Amino acid sequence: MQTQIFKITDLEADKDKLKKAADILANGGLVAIPTETVYGLAADFLNEEAVKAIFQAKGRPSDNPLIVHLADVKDAEKYASELPETFYKLAERFCPGPLTMIVPKKECVPTATSGGLDTVALRFPSHPVAREIIRLCGKGLAAPSANRSGSPSPTEAEHCINDMFGRIDAVVDGGSCTIGVESTVVSLVGGKVRVLRPGAVTPEQIAEVTGEAEVDRAVTNKMNDNEQAASPGMKYKHYAPSCKVVIVCADDDGYRRFINEKAEDNAYALCFEEDTAHINKHYVVLGREEDELSQAQALFASLRKLDELGAEIAYARCPSQEGVGLAVYNRLLRAAAFRTIDA
Ligand code: AMP
Ligand code: MG
Repeated sequence: MQTQIFKITDLEADKDKLKKAADILANGGLVAIPTETVYGLAADFLNEEAVKAIFQAKGRPSDNPLIVHLADVKDAEKYASELPETFYKLAERFCPGPLTMIVPKKECVPTATSGGLDTVALRFPSHPVAREIIRLCGKGLAAPSANRSGSPSPTEAEHCINDMFGRIDAVVDGGSCTIGVESTVVSLVGGKVRVLRPGAVTPEQIAEVTGEAEVDRAVTNKMNDNEQAASPGMKYKHYAPSCKVVIVCADDDGYRRFINEKAEDNAYALCFEEDTAHINKHYVVLGREEDELSQAQALFASLRKLDELGAEIAYARCPSQEGVGLAVYNRLLRAAAFRTIDA
């Protein structure tokens, strides 16, 4: 398959390219598109064949449901059989934006999209390019991250091209993603508000609106083999580079001493900018220490960078679990296959 690349610098000037991408989607094709979180691999979510092609292109297990991206909160009623008051309250505060809400689905949502569940995940992206493409094609878009299943998510068009060239119809290049980690996923099913995946919208912010928000145990803990996943995606290998990653739980001095004195000679530090002047090993920077958003923005590209550099083992700083830091920690834990050490 020949993959077309559409570079977008201006919504008005590049209208023809956006229209081409939208036409491919309207006709059942697959297009990687930029969103404010990560790049998504989009297809018409009502077209079962197109949805199946997403799973195939990514190598994604078919029971891992897809998030449906819509232009307008009003469209939710067409696909949800029930919308609790919390849906409207959260939508008013956070949509469009990096929040995905899980609600009971209507019959019209294909089983392929919902991974066989009777619920559907809805999101209203804020990225102007994503919004324009949804508007032009007149379809809702199922759009999981546009990477090969299991590998770090794409935050640049180049990452999508590396993973998906020849496997999908087109990549729309809209520059770097501003958030860098996937949306917050919150389940509103059964009268509860439960965060299944942390993102830029924090559990504290959700609780301010809904009065309470439970955080699923799987956000920070490895699931047991016999445990049923509230969010099927949580049980799979995720975000992992080929390089072995180990999270080092320590303060500044402890981390730097570990890197300088204990880490293997060929080891890489996956460290904060502030660490770089104090270590004697190769390093890749994972944002700034007190700036969780900078860590979110850098995370996936830094994991890909380790592989580009041929790193075999990397010791990562442990992000704080405050604010969007919880999302960084959640992704890094999985990238590290839950390997942590105290130093
Ligand atoms: P991705 O598309 O890779 O960003 O992953 C979407 C995440 O949302 C996965 O972890 C899914 O398991 C989760 N998800 C999507 N739909 C549902 C749903 N109906 N119920 C529970 N989790 C869902
Ligand atoms: Mg993904």
